[in-house]
Amino acid sequence: MLTQSTPVTIPGGFDTLNLISPICRAVNEEKYTSPTPIQTEAIPHLLQGRDLLGCAQTGTGKTAAFALPILQRLAEYKDRPRSKEVRSLILTPTRELAMQIEESFRVYGRYMKFNQAVVFGGVSIKNQIRALSRGVDVLVATPGRLLDLYNQGCLRMDKVDVFVLDEADQMLDMGFLPDVKKIFNEIPKTSQTVLFSATLPTEIVRLTQNFLKDPIKISVAPPSSTVEKVDQRIMFVDRDNKSALLESILEDESVYRVLVFTRTKHGANRVAKNLSKKRIRTEAIHGNKSQAARMQALNKFRSGHVRVLVATDVASRGLDVDGITHVINYELPKEAESYVHRIGRTARAGATGIALSFCDSEERGYLRGIERTINQSVTVDKDHAYHSESIATKSSHRSGGNGGRRGAGAGAGGKRNGTRFSAKPGGRRSSPRANPSAPSGFAKKTKSFHAKPRSAR
Ligand code: AMP
Repeated sequence: MLTQSTPVTIPGGFDTLNLISPICRAVNEEKYTSPTPIQTEAIPHLLQGRDLLGCAQTGTGKTAAFALPILQRLAEYKDRPRSKEVRSLILTPTRELAMQIEESFRVYGRYMKFNQAVVFGGVSIKNQIRALSRGVDVLVATPGRLLDLYNQGCLRMDKVDVFVLDEADQMLDMGFLPDVKKIFNEIPKTSQTVLFSATLPTEIVRLTQNFLKDPIKISVAPPSSTVEKVDQRIMFVDRDNKSALLESILEDESVYRVLVFTRTKHGANRVAKNLSKKRIRTEAIHGNKSQAARMQALNKFRSGHVRVLVATDVASRGLDVDGITHVINYELPKEAESYVHRIGRTARAGATGIALSFCDSEERGYLRGIERTINQSVTVDKDHAYHSESIATKSSHRSGGNGGRRGAGAGAGGKRNGTRFSAKPGGRRSSPRANPSAPSGFAKKTKSFHAKPRSAR
């Protein structure tokens, strides 16, 4: 796995965690020198068989926190699972996350013998039935397809030894809670249960009270710590100018791995189409796309064949792509939580990143909610040709420079030599070209600044 990020880790190394050598070897090869806080805290308890409630979001290293103890437990089995048996079940809300978790097991377990399968909707069920018929040590699944397969008699849950519910709050948001409860009821009461959730709404708390046995409670990296690692800027712009503003930002070649968010599937398609017309390599992922199309788009983005990925919130949840230079909120999300999740895509495992948010007159209410949640005001970036003073003056923002940011070094108005929006020290940079379609004065306005390099933060 390619890891460009600088992970937040705890000194001491994996050797202090009593993991067996095939696991340590795989982890070393991943260049994980030290465990992350969630790994340090969770792994010893999980190795002891305790239930666990982890308040942690993607990017904290939580996958390895549950995957490594599961692999260690699997090593104790002397026999293979019987037909249709499942030994460890990991439930996740989205297909993308399911695939990522399956891939993580493959990576961390590369020196071990075990078999695994991943099942989710939107693809043929036949191969999944075949994989399950052999019995699996690790099954990663989304709730709907899992129940579908279960109801068809294709798997047994009575031998599940470890059950992980990942991104429980997202399950709730997506309406999976009834399915999740059904699954909980099929799992043996004796199995070890692990629940991860970025937030703990009442329904999730109730779930843990009903289904977890005296769990260890761990909370790491509350959203604000991710928020502080991201250089956030707000750009007030009329809705009709958003497309041109996005294109102007993309003229800077150092803005090279970009995740653009829209609120709707329709919006995602429209933005992707516009960018493609401008010969900017772009793909869109959202719930209406076939699974194959989503996988293809994601792979192209990961490999760098596609520069811009336009996504809706649901499609992007848990997305694990290293080296995203910029998150652009083409449309602000209604829920402040989504904002935190979105911008966290550019601050994976301790890395820093840049998040630019477009705000039109109808989105100012969303912005207020976001700022209340993250407990800080977002720096206003006025230095672009599409800035709308009328939208800006209706708000109470401090503008330009390092305005509302707390702590983290220079912001939007930092250096004024070099390209704008640049995040990578020594990264590819080029002078932005003047945008022929932009209003007059644009070229002059685009020539300046970039954020403080990561190394200097
Ligand atoms: P996760 O929160 O599980 O999605 O992990 C986020 C990213 O952190 C993934 O790209 C992992 O490969 C990476 N990662 C997990 N644990 C470590 C570690 N101990 N050191 C460095 N990177 C890590």
